[in-house]
Amino acid sequence: MADIIDELIRKRGFASRIFRNREVLHPDYIPDTLPHRENEIRKLAEHLLVSAQGMRPSNVLIYGLTGTGKTVVVKYVVSRLKEKASSLNKRLDYAYVNTRKLDTTYRVIASIAQSIGLRVPHTGLAISEVYRRYINALDSWGGLHIIVLDEVDYYVKREGDDLIYKLVRANEELSKAKIVLIGITNDVNFIENLDPRVRSSMGEIEMVFPPYNAEQLFTILKQRAELAFNQGVIEDGVISYCSALAAREHGDARRALDLLRVSGEIAEREGAERVTIEHVKKATLEIEEGRIYQSVVTLPLHQKLVLKKIVELVEGKGSTTTGEVYTAYSNMMRNLKYEPLSLRRISEIISQLDMMGLIISEVVNRGKYGITRIIKIRKDMLPVIKDALKDVEA
Ligand code: ADP
Ligand code: MG
Repeated sequence: MADIIDELIRKRGFASRIFRNREVLHPDYIPDTLPHRENEIRKLAEHLLVSAQGMRPSNVLIYGLTGTGKTVVVKYVVSRLKEKASSLNKRLDYAYVNTRKLDTTYRVIASIAQSIGLRVPHTGLAISEVYRRYINALDSWGGLHIIVLDEVDYYVKREGDDLIYKLVRANEELSKAKIVLIGITNDVNFIENLDPRVRSSMGEIEMVFPPYNAEQLFTILKQRAELAFNQGVIEDGVISYCSALAAREHGDARRALDLLRVSGEIAEREGAERVTIEHVKKATLEIEEGRIYQSVVTLPLHQKLVLKKIVELVEGKGSTTTGEVYTAYSNMMRNLKYEPLSLRRISEIISQLDMMGLIISEVVNRGKYGITRIIKIRKDMLPVIKDALKDVEA
């Protein structure tokens, strides 16, 4: 074994031919400058500075599609302000909580409390007790505490808005310290359906982050590529190609950066000297496959069973229909001695699979034979879907 590794190191070395510093393509990396977000940075920083000077802070609600720079802008602003404040001996600190990842009220409030140095056990305290300790500690510290609740729609959908409302009102209990809340969401519907009382107090200031266009994505990618890749490794046209592809996907900077990173990884795996448009094309497919795989693996059981039947039928004859799928599905269920779902439910599941982009279905009118839905699966996606379904026993 050691020989193989020795040989590889001799051939390839530890240094990458392609990457100079791949960390800068990591989603958590915060660049020194954020092109095309100057206005948003200025507006947010100005607001927080005013709050730090003793005005009653108003809360901020930020929304925009994924990859429009919401998270990175907020992290950039709050971390810079904290640095400045500490060098000027001012009291300003922040808590950043991604509520999709920290998914219970206990974990959210514990993380907020920990950000000002409180020790909170993983379990065992009542939420109200953690909250009380946090408020007490905050007031004896006496500064401005910025609480960022990222992907806050996930939290509210799961746990309701009690904690948020409590935090919004906390300034009334505090005598010295102050709290500013910054909520971030990718989901505009969420804001529209938010309890109006919560919306008006949480979103006294609302900021919308617009999608980037291809040119803006180009600047962002170019800046990152210079740090991430060895000089001259990226072939001409690669960056504008990635930008154009991501601009089509609603201007998502994350997509653009992912494409560039995966293209580089593929070039490296192939032992190529440069990253080419061909690598970007392969990367597109690889990313798409990853997305398909994830969405199949996380489907509920019945959806998986229906998809499995569709795969079998499509493999046999290229396409199938709702009727055939239903027959195959209910036979299978009877063999397993289970009650099959109704035809209507199966039709709904088929529509959902279509909306998720796992199958392609088309309703055709066959005159006197009535209306049928023709179902297909993209050929290049069949292997991934089958792989993702391989553990489904039926
Ligand atoms: P959102 O939170 O809106 O979904 P992010 O802030 O996570 O989007 O941004 C997605 C990715 O794009 C991150 O890697 C981020 O660093 C990068 N990014 C977004 N906007 C910019 C920008 N203006 N300049 C540089 N990088 C950016
Ligand atoms: Mg985000």
